[in-house]
Amino acid sequence: MVIVLLGPPGAGKGTQCKRIVERYRLAHLSSGDILRSEKAAGTKLGRKAQRYMDCGKLVPDQIIIETMVGAIACAGGDCVLDGFPRTVVQAAELDKELAQKREKIDAVVSLVVDDDVVEERITGRRSCPVCGAVYHIDTLKPKIEGHCDKCKNQELIQRPDDKPDVVKQRLKTYHEQTTAVVGYYADNSQEILDIDADRPVDDVTAQIFEKLDSLVTAR
Ligand code: ADP
Ligand code: AMP
Repeated sequence: MVIVLLGPPGAGKGTQCKRIVERYRLAHLSSGDILRSEKAAGTKLGRKAQRYMDCGKLVPDQIIIETMVGAIACAGGDCVLDGFPRTVVQAAELDKELAQKREKIDAVVSLVVDDDVVEERITGRRSCPVCGAVYHIDTLKPKIEGHCDKCKNQELIQRPDDKPDVVKQRLKTYHEQTTAVVGYYADNSQEILDIDADRPVDDVTAQIFEKLDSLVTAR
């Protein structure tokens, strides 16, 4: 089963993916997390991606397509894609790759939320550099301020691309290059499950589960 989760940066894709993968036993493939771990490991891919990530631009299609196609194969095909595809070229390549394996996307879930809300969410996001857990300074505080609940003494960080000036560029990039992906799926008769993501985390999860449960039951 392949689920694509669309939405602007800060919409809550990572937060919701963690819950989706638990319920439906899928692998969580976050293109941003994969690039950040390549960056942390100092690989050639990570160094190349960093140049784009740090200024809020998308890494070139060919790089991310190769990376994600490999990750999907490693996951055995059952996955939730978080942050990929982000351009029409990536969406078309993903369809092509899946078709070659006689597979297809089972659901496209789109988190719908305004820019002012996501700006506030991203600038308040704090992440654990070790386990990747995500918190928010107001809405999802760790038990001990500034420290990860799971990795005890580990201090939380603000991602360099979560600083206000880069966030503005990321939202610009999203509107210029990623919103067209919704149009691509509509043109290809792929149903899009719209979710009101301007709601508390549990309400968003409930909306997603309601739609995916009926899809899983109908399979
Ligand atoms: P994305 O993966 O789409 O970039 P995240 O899941 O990392 O977004 O969420 C961005 C920030 O917003 C995090 O700090 C997270 O705790 C917070 N957040 C996520 N969903 C909600 C929500 N429904 N309401 C309020 N804050 C949220
Ligand atoms: P994210 O963690 O999803 O917010 O992604 C962080 C950054 O990684 C983005 O701003 C891009 O620079 C890069 N990135 C992640 N996914 C993609 C993608 N599908 N295509 C191009 N760049 C990506």
